[in-house]
Amino acid sequence: MVKKLFETDPEIFAAITKETERQHANLELIASENFCSEAVLAALGSVLTNKYAEGYPKKRYYGGCRYVDIAEELAIQRAKKLFNCDHANVQPHSGTQANIAAYLTLANPGDTIMGLSLTHGGHLSHGHPINFSGRYFKVVHYTVDPDTEMLDYAAIRKLALEHNPRVIVSGASAYPRIIHFDKFQEICDEVGAAQLADIAHIAGPVAAGLHPSPVPYADIVTTTTHKTLRGPRGAIIMCKAKYAEELDKVVFPGTQGGPLEHCIAAKAVAFQEALTPEFKEYQRQTLANARALAEGLERKGFRLCTGGTDNHLILVDLRPKNIKGRDAERLLGKVGITVNRNTIPFDPEKPFIASGIRLGTPALTTRGMKEPEMEKIAELIDRTIAAGDDETKLEQIKSEVKELVESFPLYQERRQEYQRFTKEE
Ligand SMILES: *Cc1c(COP(=O)(O)O)cnc(C)c1O
Repeated sequence: MVKKLFETDPEIFAAITKETERQHANLELIASENFCSEAVLAALGSVLTNKYAEGYPKKRYYGGCRYVDIAEELAIQRAKKLFNCDHANVQPHSGTQANIAAYLTLANPGDTIMGLSLTHGGHLSHGHPINFSGRYFKVVHYTVDPDTEMLDYAAIRKLALEHNPRVIVSGASAYPRIIHFDKFQEICDEVGAAQLADIAHIAGPVAAGLHPSPVPYADIVTTTTHKTLRGPRGAIIMCKAKYAEELDKVVFPGTQGGPLEHCIAAKAVAFQEALTPEFKEYQRQTLANARALAEGLERKGFRLCTGGTDNHLILVDLRPKNIKGRDAERLLGKVGITVNRNTIPFDPEKPFIASGIRLGTPALTTRGMKEPEMEKIAELIDRTIAAGDDETKLEQIKSEVKELVESFPLYQERRQEYQRFTKEE
């Protein structure tokens, strides 16, 4: 099958081969990324992509859906079991797409929604003016507390009482602490708002019981499936039974057409994996690794926003090191450490420059790395930033990164298979 791609389209084959090598050869610290299993990839690369299946299992607008129905029903059942929710829609193509459907289930365009500001760790789809969510709704943004850099529930309550939002979004993309969905719900109940919990980042720890779940409280819960959950790129929406019918209609035909049944089958595979004790252990290690990385960085004099982490990610304030997020991202990239620049709360820099970087441990934990490797990586990050543009020092660090990645090989069989063709040529 690989051979066919090689013969038909050597350019795409080469891009895929190189990307696979890149994933293996670098230390992936982007908090929103992960490496899904060969089983997930097999489902993704299947003929289910050929099938039109508008509608839902047993209620399709196309013939020939009996097998994709099996896959989608398994995905739904497993999602419900994993998160213990009343209803799950597994069709959203992405996290943003899931949020579109969630908003339109709970509110009408023009209504007020409240979410965490992007520059304080929120997501574009939580009401940013350049996103659909900021264009179709009136938006009020809450921020984190200037002193603790953590969510301030009293301030969120005050803002909610002032603006009476229809929906309050809980959840974030760059928040290293526990989110108290129960406290959000108290605020929602008081002001008559619905809670939309977006657990795109923390779905893995939530599924493993290592972070409080919003499911008992929130009206609707959305999550991506490709971050800590380690599935294919995509999303799901969970909701209380009373919203099930409306939500399904908003997803299809409301905001999407035909579902991606190959992705849905791959989501089912990922949920099956997530239901195992190994997955729970993986999540535990991911969080332990984040703590180890945080402690290692603190020992090297880095300032961590909020003073540390409770989850899989760390937000580093680089100002004490006199380097901008953009420049740190570039230097670390040179030695093979992949991170993203990120604004820190009340950042004096624009997002394109940013004062911080965001680091996450889900991907490296999938490779099997543990606390000792995290300590080593903290040291490598520190030395890289200290090296600046000293190419000799950077070369030395790069060789240490190489040594580390070679001890934890990624997609080895797949890489060998690709290499076989590349060499034959
Ligand atoms: C990643 C993320 C999303 C969006 O996911 P996409 O699949 O990239 O659209 C939504 N919400 C939060 C909180 C996220 O972190």
